[in-house]
Amino acid sequence: MANSNLATMQQYQLFIDGEWRDPANGNWFETANPYTGTVWAKIPRGGAEDVELAVAAAHRAFKTGDWPALTASRRGQLLVRLADVLVENAEALAAVEVRDNGKLIAEVLHQCRYLAEWYRYYGGLADKIEGTVPPIDKPNVLNFTRHEPLGVCACITPWNSPLLLLAWKAAPALAAGNTLVIKPSEYTSASTLEFARLTQQAGFPPGVFNVVTGFGNEVGEPLVRHPKVRKVAFTGGESGGRHVNVAAARDFKSVTLELGGKSANIVFDDANMGQAVNGAISGIFAASGQTCIAGSRLLLQESIHDEFLDRLIETAKSATLGDPMAAGTNIGPITTEPQYRKILDYIDIAKAEGARCVLGGAPAKSVGKLFVQPTVFADVTPQMRIAQEEVFGPVLSVLRFRDEEHAIEIANDVNYGLAAGVWTESLRRAIRMSERLEAGTVWVNTYRSTSYTTPFGGYKASGIGRENGIEAIKEYLQTKSVWFYSGGDVANPFVRR
Ligand code: NAD
Repeated sequence: MANSNLATMQQYQLFIDGEWRDPANGNWFETANPYTGTVWAKIPRGGAEDVELAVAAAHRAFKTGDWPALTASRRGQLLVRLADVLVENAEALAAVEVRDNGKLIAEVLHQCRYLAEWYRYYGGLADKIEGTVPPIDKPNVLNFTRHEPLGVCACITPWNSPLLLLAWKAAPALAAGNTLVIKPSEYTSASTLEFARLTQQAGFPPGVFNVVTGFGNEVGEPLVRHPKVRKVAFTGGESGGRHVNVAAARDFKSVTLELGGKSANIVFDDANMGQAVNGAISGIFAASGQTCIAGSRLLLQESIHDEFLDRLIETAKSATLGDPMAAGTNIGPITTEPQYRKILDYIDIAKAEGARCVLGGAPAKSVGKLFVQPTVFADVTPQMRIAQEEVFGPVLSVLRFRDEEHAIEIANDVNYGLAAGVWTESLRRAIRMSERLEAGTVWVNTYRSTSYTTPFGGYKASGIGRENGIEAIKEYLQTKSVWFYSGGDVANPFVRR
């Protein structure tokens, strides 16, 4: 059991219908700082009763009151106001996030400032969603389409980037006019509750934004199954995603699923080696490898394999592990104990499968309880589990390839299809590779960039639907076709003519 610091212990409440309330069952659970092990807050352990209240509030706010009465422009302005409030509070939010998930302050602070752009972008988009007037093939008819919100949307987020991944859902969903019930990860709920305070400050009407914290089976499950929830936007692992997808399908709910990855970072022999080494390092070791887009498979062309590997190991060795709040830290702790154990299990599996551990391969106990050494496995073959399954930690698998065809064959031979990187100076090869890689995102001579302006999502088991960019708002809208007849007579259908 972790140490607890009662003097500074914070007890959170649920945010439902614009009010802070205790969970109906009167239960809380503890959340600990993954770096220090100190329990610093109590999080409400919500249940079905709280879900019921939150969905009812969100449904009411969708149907009646201030929210549906707002014009799209006013709704957009509210989102932009939220973006301003976010920027003002970015440092405080980042500190909470680091305390809860152990990511580096530099990365989280950047993220907390950057996520305001999602609210600004979709705020701007709110009044630019236009229907069409199809040139209908019938006389005396005016037909037009309008895009309408879906209703109550459930947003379920994981622990690695809670506020950013919430912004990817909440910003387009709110811009489209929906209302939300949010369930953050049980490991990192605090920042979402702090964020709820900011929605209040920005002036969102009660019931538009609700947060019910708790566990997947106790809150997530009843939320996804609730008949008044019309859309589920989920980011998380493959098994949770499958569960949510099946449950939502029963009631024909729309889903967006952002799931795992086993992304290939592919380096050709004509690449700028220094840049590609840096790209491979940030691809796998950023956030201690706990990112869905981690470039966890490094594919090296045979002719540069050995030299590249040496340079990669040299750079990886220079990483400083330690306090995520310290400016000089490159790699922080693993966020959760189960994830820490899972990573160590995969290291054992890789060794047992015959992969050659050329760096790390063990816990970094001298740094802290939940640290894993940056780990690199060479001589990985495509069918090894370490080349097929998501580790979600600082563990890189290095594979060799002969030529373009071989690189494509290895890169695409996994269930996932979230992202891929290609390092080459050949424009033609880059174009060919970007066309043939089965991945929702392909980076050429860069890795890991995402933006509010461009769609993000997975092929194959990496997900369904897209977040970000203009097309993401359509995930939160449904189209109505409206017909007006202007002819003089509506014929009696029972009279033969
Ligand atoms: P997880 O699937 O364990 O949990 C994600 C969320 O789903 C949590 O809030 C959890 O409580 C909830 N949940 C779990 N079971 C549920 C159920 N049956 N019904 C409803 N909700 C349920 O994932 P995690 O361990 O928190 O996050 C890591 C995973 O997320 C990795 O696989 C990673 O690749 C993925 N991820 C994907 C993206 C992306 O955009 N594609 C981004 C970040 C993380």
